[in-house]
Amino acid sequence: MSGKKRKVVVLPCSGIGKTLGTVGREIAYELIEDLRPGVTTTTCLPLLMIEDPDAKKLVTDNPVITIDGCPFGCARKSAESIGVTVSKGYRAIDFCRVHKDLKPEGISELNEAGKKLVVLAAKEVAEEVDRLLAEEKS
Ligand code: SF4
Repeated sequence: MSGKKRKVVVLPCSGIGKTLGTVGREIAYELIEDLRPGVTTTTCLPLLMIEDPDAKKLVTDNPVITIDGCPFGCARKSAESIGVTVSKGYRAIDFCRVHKDLKPEGISELNEAGKKLVVLAAKEVAEEVDRLLAEEKS
């Protein structure tokens, strides 16, 4: 590995028009902007699918976490279909199952329960980010 500091790439699914897709995307933003700024980043899934060289290099040089909305697992499957190794895949629906009291609603903007769910889920994913970065150092 080069001496360049690596980041964890967080790839949410597109999930347009679906509450679970919004939850997955918001978890990614919560991580990148608030919980682990500077050590996490993202890129557009479609850029990867057209094999954009910069996007491909990003996911080749760094560990990748996918966050899908539902069991279709589009982000994980898309990444793997072009040869990306996914270190860990999450699904928003699984966070909903664990936190049954927080029922997300809304598409462009989540309700309060959805926002709370996003923060709880992002904290869990942040622990995985820390673990992956610690692995990089060892
Ligand atoms: S994983 Fe589910 S929510 Fe996400 S893009 Fe695929 S079908 Fe849509």
